[in-house]
Amino acid sequence: MVRGSGAQHTVHWGQLLSRLENFYSGGKWRVPVMRERGADPFRVLVSTVLSHRTRDQVTQRAAMRLLNRYPNPTLLARANLRDIRFLIHDVGLSDSKARGLRAAAIEIVHRHRGLVPGTEAELRALPLVGKKTADAVLVFGFGEAAIPVDTHIHRVSNRLGVIRTRSLEETSVQLQSVVPRKYWYRLNPTLVQHGQNLCRFSDPLCDGCPIRESCLRVGVPTNPN
Ligand code: SF4
Repeated sequence: MVRGSGAQHTVHWGQLLSRLENFYSGGKWRVPVMRERGADPFRVLVSTVLSHRTRDQVTQRAAMRLLNRYPNPTLLARANLRDIRFLIHDVGLSDSKARGLRAAAIEIVHRHRGLVPGTEAELRALPLVGKKTADAVLVFGFGEAAIPVDTHIHRVSNRLGVIRTRSLEETSVQLQSVVPRKYWYRLNPTLVQHGQNLCRFSDPLCDGCPIRESCLRVGVPTNPN
């Protein structure tokens, strides 16, 4: 699987992603909130904003509560701020997320006739929407090629050794240059799931990892020839 080693560590992305996808297709593994394309772009936007500095289970519950009551931008734009705060009280930065999400909904209603826009520039012009959220909406809401980068993808990619970065922004830029575009849409759900299960922040379970022979953290075997 490994094409080379050293400073420029490269992997065969198709094989690596397939191995992880096959591995996680069986068993009771944790599953990322966002994994299928074709989701409602508004739901993707809200869930991704809520996920910042918040654990996955807390994000899921808060997103469900908020979206059950306010399932589209028009309803959220008219919502009472105190009610939004109450519904998402357990996520990190809940006050600013409540204000920002309502402001984003108001902009979507006024500038985009109530429909979440489908370009990175328009998305990033909305309150609270940065590159990760815009990329998530593009991939999961509109089926576009993009790489939403969160802490799981940042950690797994650096442990694999395919990039060397210190920030999510750097990771986003470098992954776009090392991963062929045809694999971009598979990268987020697959590496996020790996980061949630085996390649977790503390105590990664490397012994049972299906891609350990590609990983610089455990040492890529050298070619005897
Ligand atoms: S071998 Fe360990 S560090 Fe490397 S990808 Fe697998 S779990 Fe992560």
